[in-house]
Amino acid sequence: MTELIVDVPERWLPVVGYEGLYEVSSIGNLRTVERKDSLGRRRKSRPRKPALKPDGYLQVMLFKDGVNRNHYVQRLVLEAFAGPCPPLREACHRNDIKTDNRAENLRWGTRQENMIDQARNGRSVGSKMSECIRGHAFDVINTYIKPNGNRGCKECRRTAVREGRIRRSEEAAK
Ligand SMILES: [Zn+2]
Repeated sequence: MTELIVDVPERWLPVVGYEGLYEVSSIGNLRTVERKDSLGRRRKSRPRKPALKPDGYLQVMLFKDGVNRNHYVQRLVLEAFAGPCPPLREACHRNDIKTDNRAENLRWGTRQENMIDQARNGRSVGSKMSECIRGHAFDVINTYIKPNGNRGCKECRRTAVREGRIRRSEEAAK
């Protein structure tokens, strides 16, 4: 099966609450809207660069009515492309990459769905590593909990069992 890679054009929509001032795109870019200033001069559209915050998410500073406010980019994308946040939902990154703010990577999900995303992507709550020391993913399929409460890698356990069996059979052949 061949994979068809389609280059989807970037689409722009007004930032909700900042209509006529800023636009957000389907891949998470931001820009000012071209407008005339109070003296009638043309102000060209300019990119608005988000900043990476210590929590790992991108935020962008938007200005309206004399006030600067920081906004999470994922929320601006969702509000523009998916509609307002339903009650008890939060912005979820499907692939768990906090800076991947493509509209198709985002959804308004529950806290539980967000945790399922994190587990599937190997970043279960309370754990920092996404892989075992040999580079196997700590995902929901490959992870078991050891008697001491630590996570174990099923792939490595299988290998250890297999190597143990090989050694035993080699000794038996002597
Ligand atoms: Zn492993």
